[in-house]
Amino acid sequence: MTPLLARLKTHVRLKLLALALLPIAVLLPIFLGVTMWHWIGRLDDLLIAKVTSDLRIAEQYFLKIEEAQAQSIVAVGDSRQLAQAMGEGEDALNRYLADAQSSMGLDFLIMDALGPQTNVPDAVRELLEASAAPSLSGLIVATPSELDRLGEGLSERARLSIVPTSGARPLEREHEDRGLILWAAYKIEGADGYLFGGRLLNRNLDVIDRMNALIYGAGSETPSGAGTTTLFLDDVRISTNVRLFEGDRALGTRVTEVVWHQVVEQGQPWLDRAFVVNDWYVSGYMPLTDVTGQRVGMLYTGFLEKPFADQRNGTVVALGLAFLAVLCLAAPLFLRMAREVFAPLERMTSTMKQVEDGNLSARIGTVEAEDEIGAVARHLDRLLDQVKERDEALRDYADHLNDLVDQRTQELREANQKLEDTYAQLILKEKLASLGEITAGVAHEINNPIAVIQGNMELLRLGLSDEIKSEVETELDLIETQTRRINTIVGKLLSFSRSGEMSDHSSLVNVSEAVDSALVLVAADLRQHKIETRRIESDVPLIEIVENELQQVLVNLFINAAQAMSKGGTLTVEVKPLAQGGKDGVAILVHDTGPGIPAAQIDHVFDPFFTTKQAEGTGLGLSISQALIERAGGNITVESMCGRGTSFSVWCPVASFCPDEE
Ligand code: ADP
Repeated sequence: MTPLLARLKTHVRLKLLALALLPIAVLLPIFLGVTMWHWIGRLDDLLIAKVTSDLRIAEQYFLKIEEAQAQSIVAVGDSRQLAQAMGEGEDALNRYLADAQSSMGLDFLIMDALGPQTNVPDAVRELLEASAAPSLSGLIVATPSELDRLGEGLSERARLSIVPTSGARPLEREHEDRGLILWAAYKIEGADGYLFGGRLLNRNLDVIDRMNALIYGAGSETPSGAGTTTLFLDDVRISTNVRLFEGDRALGTRVTEVVWHQVVEQGQPWLDRAFVVNDWYVSGYMPLTDVTGQRVGMLYTGFLEKPFADQRNGTVVALGLAFLAVLCLAAPLFLRMAREVFAPLERMTSTMKQVEDGNLSARIGTVEAEDEIGAVARHLDRLLDQVKERDEALRDYADHLNDLVDQRTQELREANQKLEDTYAQLILKEKLASLGEITAGVAHEINNPIAVIQGNMELLRLGLSDEIKSEVETELDLIETQTRRINTIVGKLLSFSRSGEMSDHSSLVNVSEAVDSALVLVAADLRQHKIETRRIESDVPLIEIVENELQQVLVNLFINAAQAMSKGGTLTVEVKPLAQGGKDGVAILVHDTGPGIPAAQIDHVFDPFFTTKQAEGTGLGLSISQALIERAGGNITVESMCGRGTSFSVWCPVASFCPDEE
């Protein structure tokens, strides 16, 4: 598809231009073409009508000459002068006839008896002999000898060189010797003969020029004249005012074969354009017949086609130019008008495109046109305003919804966390409760045998001699140490089992003081391991907890730290206020510089009986600590990094009441 066609499909303005120009660009040329065609046809008809009438005039004129010639010969024949001259003898007759011939403008005038010595051409003689009419006239083609018999030098005057003419039929002859004669004969009573006179039409320019002047006016026989008249003998121009290129008369030239064929051979007149010698003429040819009824030549009138053709072509060109001018003026004018009409539409299209691209603020703006397009543009702007308003409302609502979703998600997450915590606590409590029950039972069961072993060990020592005692001293010490160890474990198991119960009453505890007391309890251990202690203190509120239990937790953490830093290190204990989950509280951070807890173990340090210390460890310290702190409403967490040490954080909520407030 060409770009113009593609643009036509998409641009309303171009479509309308095409629609508007269609009548001008297509229908007007068709209308003009048809009109011109019709007009040219009418013009041709007029030209043919004119040439037909010209030919008719020529024919009438020719008949008139014939008739006048015949009448004048009759008049001479009836004249007393002729009778008198005849009476005076042959010389007088010849003198009179010569005078009459020249006064009538004839080429010959003779008195002929039609006997063996007759000078009248054979065809005329036969006619006269056969006819009873006293007066006859007509045309005849005379041979050179017949011409010579009629008048001296006539054959010479009749002789024409045939000029080669394009389009003429082939011809062997180089000369036309025959003469076309317009004759008239009048029977002279008493003389037993005919007065026979006439004109040789070959080279008879007088007749042809007068005929031409009659039809086309004086001067038209000049080389530039438009009207031409010709007499043909057969197809040869024997008298004409048609000129050759040099300006000479075109005597001896011939008519085209097609014209000759139609007119001379078929006897039909030719009324059409024809090529005459050297140019196109609007031509009329009619056949000339001799006295025997044979077609012997043609009478022609015609005028140059060129001036008419020039006029016609000029008119066509002028109309074409006028049409182009109209088109050239109409197209920009219409485009300009269309631009004004469609400017709002184009602005609408561009605005819609911007809106599509996301610019909801794009507007068509002020449109001055008060027509339907202007109304649509204004309406569209109002619609866009509404769309924008709704879009903003939707966006606000979406933002509001997002906030709501975020809020709900957060609430859900917190609720979920609480649920998880509660669930974990429940599980732990459940676990601890069942474990506590078992351990309490087991501890009681073990306590009695241990007491028996320890009592009997005392007895055994007392009962052994010093000698034997010294031998088994080591084994006895070992039994006692292990028995004490069993005691310790059982004690811890019992305190673990009791952690689920409300063993002691909680009180308001100063955390810093609790840290001090616990550090005193583990001071020996710390010293032993060459551990430096660092305190970071802040003013903290009191917390509500069973003091011994807090101490037990802290001691456990410090001892674990000391054990982790068996080759020395720093124990940092920080006490600070810390809010958690919207609750005020106190945090105790216990940080050591030990080897840290491997990632695989850190999730298990609060599990009961999880220990990495083999015989020395019970794996109950942290689990009991967790149980005690959680019972006080707090929590205990651990963070550790391999090689960097471990941090335990104990958090407890502040007391819900204060002694000062009581
Ligand atoms: P125990 O001390 O009897 O092993 P705990 O419950 O107190 O029992 O501790 C459990 C385990 O947690 C320990 O065996 C040890 O592996 C690890 N642990 C506790 N505290 C620390 C610490 N400060 N540094 C390194 N590991 C620790």
